[in-house]
Amino acid sequence: MTPLNNLQFMPPALNKLIESFRLLPGIGPKTARKLAFSTLKMSTDQVKEISESLLDIKTQLIFCESCQNISENKNCNICMDENRDNSIICVVEEFMDVYVLEKSGAFKGKFHVLHGSISPANGIGPDEIRIKELINRVNNIPSIKEIVIATNLNLEGEATAMYINQVLSTKKDKLKITRLARGLPSGSDIEYADETTILHALGSRVNINESI
Ligand SMILES: [Zn+2]
Repeated sequence: MTPLNNLQFMPPALNKLIESFRLLPGIGPKTARKLAFSTLKMSTDQVKEISESLLDIKTQLIFCESCQNISENKNCNICMDENRDNSIICVVEEFMDVYVLEKSGAFKGKFHVLHGSISPANGIGPDEIRIKELINRVNNIPSIKEIVIATNLNLEGEATAMYINQVLSTKKDKLKITRLARGLPSGSDIEYADETTILHALGSRVNINESI
């Protein structure tokens, strides 16, 4: 008799849950099984809470009309905060980067989330990310005096920074364009930088033409 391969001896619903957990980044088969078994031991109310939370982030969260960050309302909490500096916008690739910069407490301006980076190899051009929304903001809000480009320090992040610098070059008499560079290891993602590194990189940001 041939032994059952895979996890055929388990109920299909449990296998399905294991496969679902595996869709998450960093979750291998062993961790997925552990999570599924833990879920089995939870109360129905707890499982209901988890499944509702998962659905809520898809049904209740939208993108902020202004900065494109995730938000429950038309404008996010950061954009609505009157104590924040309207003259400076930090441009990041993903909303995880906003979280990292906010955690450092070093940045008191507004953000702009691009939702990706320019990557010709993957067919992602400037129109596929939210660059035009940034250009519109700069064109429509005269109080903006500085754009800090905090895209990742890899090929795609650099290409994105260069493109933004180029399209905003006509504004250079009124607009300063800087780049987070110093202290961040080359090839790294902002998302993984620690707070001290972010603080240092923000404090020592340089004019973009000196960093590229
Ligand atoms: Zn916003």
